[in-house]
Amino acid sequence: MHSLATVDPQVAELIAAEQARQHDTLCLIASENHVSPAVLAATGSVLTNKYSEGYPSKRYYQGNAVVDGIEEVATQRARELFGVEHANVQPLSGAPANLAVYAAFLEPGDTVLGMALDAGGHLTHGWGVSVTGRWFRSVRYGVRRDTGVIDLDEVRALARRERAKLIWCGGTAIPRTIDFAGFAAIAQEVGAMLAADVAHIAGLIAGGAHPSPVGHADAIATTTHKTLRGPRGAMLLSGAEHASALDRAVFPGLQGGPHDHTTAAIAVALHEAAQPAFAEYAHAIVANAVALADALLERGYDLVSGGTDNHLLLVDLSATGVPGRAAAEALERAGLVCNYNAVPFDPRPPLDPSGIRLGTPAITTRGLAPDHMPELARWIDEGVRARDEATLERIRGEVLELARAFPPPA
Ligand SMILES: *Cc1c(COP(=O)(O)O)cnc(C)c1O
Repeated sequence: MHSLATVDPQVAELIAAEQARQHDTLCLIASENHVSPAVLAATGSVLTNKYSEGYPSKRYYQGNAVVDGIEEVATQRARELFGVEHANVQPLSGAPANLAVYAAFLEPGDTVLGMALDAGGHLTHGWGVSVTGRWFRSVRYGVRRDTGVIDLDEVRALARRERAKLIWCGGTAIPRTIDFAGFAAIAQEVGAMLAADVAHIAGLIAGGAHPSPVGHADAIATTTHKTLRGPRGAMLLSGAEHASALDRAVFPGLQGGPHDHTTAAIAVALHEAAQPAFAEYAHAIVANAVALADALLERGYDLVSGGTDNHLLLVDLSATGVPGRAAAEALERAGLVCNYNAVPFDPRPPLDPSGIRLGTPAITTRGLAPDHMPELARWIDEGVRARDEATLERIRGEVLELARAFPPPA
């Protein structure tokens, strides 16, 4: 066998370039992370060669004894880590996992209540450009204009008036703790199912740095590649009563063969997340986010909801006069990679909104601590306001020095 560099130098060089980019910049994208070499090894294993349609000991292909063992280890670790009766580790990613929740519990045209995308929800919670907004009747809740926080009274009024059959909680740009018990009470009042999408905060939940939806939500959907620090993939968690509906929705409802290499890497990530060091990591993510929020507030920045309880901040740049996209592009030139993001009630269009979203999972994996955050805030402040390339280049040099002192796991 020949190495990648021998067989395909073009792709090998591109991968090396991406590795260098990740090494030499600081990733502030709230949904990204750096996996361990162990997770990477499982992802790059020969399991990618196997077909395993079905579930352990109920496969449609021979040769699955080993894969059965891998999937059983993964599901058992998921059940133990999150304290649930059932886990399905086959969803190919977060969006397909969420679709499986619809397939398990709803018929087309049923009413779903989800958080609006521009308030911090996810496309798959019923937004119009997603099939979840076209195949279901979708109703949206947002946040209060004065606080930037979800208003459960609004959620309750909508759920009751619209007779929601499924309610989603959780999202992609929510800087505050999700009140799972509050959502569950509403779902119970109106006879709706409650689905918690914890894609962003699964690692915080596993590490005890965010309350768990277990015992409150009927179904829990999560990606495995964000704060949980696993491979790109997803899981569905539930009580025993919804196990077969969710399993059938994933396969044969929506998917064919599972990605066994990903399943193995999820098992490894769950093992890592069960170690005491991971709880420290989860709390360190939040400590870094809070420190970064404080440092930005001190510099006069506007944060949606006034701060953060978790791993992310949503910075409203309206007062600076710099649009989110221009800010994100400038910061990238300075070596700080983030994404532009709508803020609640954003008057600007989605492709050029008023904010940026900043997250601390990846920099915390590299070992950055709260005392690095004032410097990071200074770079962000200088980068956003920079009018010349020289300033961005100067910051780029300073970021590079810190990045090289705190390399990603290798
Ligand atoms: C990231 C995310 C998803 C989608 O995950 P993909 O793996 O990108 O499909 C779904 N829901 C939430 C809340 C997310 O943050």
